[in-house]
Amino acid sequence: MGEELQVYINGVYYPKSQAKISVYDHGLLYGDGVFEGIRAYNGIVFKLKEHINRLYRSAHALMLKIPLTEDEMTLAVVETLRKNSLRDAYIRLVVTRGVGDLGLDPQKCPESSIIIITDSISIMSSEAKEKGISTVITWVRRNPVDTTTHEIKSLNYLNSVLAKMEATANGADEAIGLDKNGLICEGVGENLFIVKDGKIFTPPSSTGALAGITSQLAIKFAKNLGYDVAETNITPFQLFTADEVFFTGTAAEVVPIREVNKRQIGKGSPGLVTKKLMAAFQKATLDPKEGVLIYPKSRKRQ
Ligand code: PMP
Repeated sequence: MGEELQVYINGVYYPKSQAKISVYDHGLLYGDGVFEGIRAYNGIVFKLKEHINRLYRSAHALMLKIPLTEDEMTLAVVETLRKNSLRDAYIRLVVTRGVGDLGLDPQKCPESSIIIITDSISIMSSEAKEKGISTVITWVRRNPVDTTTHEIKSLNYLNSVLAKMEATANGADEAIGLDKNGLICEGVGENLFIVKDGKIFTPPSSTGALAGITSQLAIKFAKNLGYDVAETNITPFQLFTADEVFFTGTAAEVVPIREVNKRQIGKGSPGLVTKKLMAAFQKATLDPKEGVLIYPKSRKRQ
């Protein structure tokens, strides 16, 4: 206790205050890299394999070679959590293009840099979960699929940053982004769902939204509960007039939205479908089958 957190960089652990990378790293110079945000609940790294797999898919799209196999990367994440004796954590896994010169040619970067930070995160308050959050639709469009699409979880998050700033400046909790056609896409780090007449809808990947791991799970739970779920275009009007709206994401989990651009959603409090999915999600986070154990029974903590 009292000791600094250890951060994994390319196979070596550094205390948080010493954990640094080169100013020539193309992750810094060009946002050239990929990342994942992952959570551990009570000794289980939730959906770790799915997050690692998405990291490698993002890297594939950028032709970024990761010098570890997916299994080795899984182990590196678990080892970093063990090194810090953590059971509940937010994990930031980053792979950058690595050190190169001042031109943007990635061929000048012989080796990618792997960073694993295991720390805590300021999560949504219990008030947000109980009452729902307020949102604004931002002027900052999400990137279309033929640009640096959000389907790739890359280090380019500037339009999420701009959108979040706008939400904060307007006194809202979060922002909602539109695609280039003006259709609802996703939040700054969350996928979006609406409920209308007992049916559930979420925007399709053609809007450029990230294929969320939490959203996949929410779809599975909703179907198990007997609801129809469809990926479909959603207009701002359909959002304003939905019965329920909620976000899903690793940091946000399942969180109700009570307001969009000052318009009340439904009754202005979390709806039945949202509540059911919140409960199903909460239960899943504690299920060892939904993740990877940090401290398998054969190992003792410490
Ligand atoms: N969209 C974006 C842009 C995100 O950054 C995230 C967070 N990873 C999500 C959606 C939600 O995805 P997940 O449920 O996998 O965390």
